[in-house]
Amino acid sequence: MDKVIIVTGASKGIGREIAKKLTEKGNKVIANYNKSVQEINELKNELLKENINIDIFHADVSKREDSKKLVEYTIRKYGKVDVLINNAGISQIKEFTQITDEDWNNMINTNLNSVFYMTQEVCNNMIHNKSGCIINISSIWGEIGASCEVHYSVSKAGVSAMTKALAKELGPSNIRVNAIAPGIIDTDMNKHLTSEELKEICEEIPLERIGKTNDIEKCVEWLIEDNYTTGQIISINGGWAI
Ligand code: NAP
Repeated sequence: MDKVIIVTGASKGIGREIAKKLTEKGNKVIANYNKSVQEINELKNELLKENINIDIFHADVSKREDSKKLVEYTIRKYGKVDVLINNAGISQIKEFTQITDEDWNNMINTNLNSVFYMTQEVCNNMIHNKSGCIINISSIWGEIGASCEVHYSVSKAGVSAMTKALAKELGPSNIRVNAIAPGIIDTDMNKHLTSEELKEICEEIPLERIGKTNDIEKCVEWLIEDNYTTGQIISINGGWAI
């Protein structure tokens, strides 16, 4: 692979795994981060030890201006964007009646509006090149809804709907738009769960384990290489929701 790839939220978890593996495979990866400066520098240094460079770029993708700067930087440096991976996201566990306007807006800005901003910013370049691949990291909760995560579920349902609608609109420009909807993956996002809670969840999952970041990364690689899949929400959840 020798593609120009933007990965949002690449400082930790799923995004980090995707950015690292795609860089190791010879792509030019622009790894976006927001708050985790130390973690992104650790990723850069890890790769430098293998004599591989990764571009890191600070941007709060919940903001239009920052998203625009991230894409402008990439196009200025590499002339194009082949692949956009909209991965940045946050979660919050709260009863519906306790969700404040600020919680709601923060969730929608980070998980959904970021996908709108980033995708719009890369679109003209991809349409001009008549080539592109957009991969959105959605969630199982966007498909089936989660109790005490209504705002999170709504944001991810929006991502899934955007994926399908955009796939129809951008297909004639040879731009594929797909989403991955992970179940539960071993990252900081789930660090609040006790080992007892994790054990109970695993008992509900046919494959009897939670997912690993590389379970998602492998699907990302496949979607980049594929030519004929678009508008799909790919569930990777060990069979938790069938
Ligand atoms: P994580 O370990 O908490 O990492 C989240 C990443 O998103 C971090 O790199 C963070 O960057 C970045 N991010 C958050 N807000 C941002 C912003 N405004 N601008 C730029 N980057 C931002 O979580 P994860 O589990 O890897 O989650 C990655 C994606 O997978 C999310 O969209 C999440 O909803 C989805 N997902 C996760 C699971 C799961 O079980 N883990 C399941 C389904 C879906 P900074 O720390 O630098 O701010």
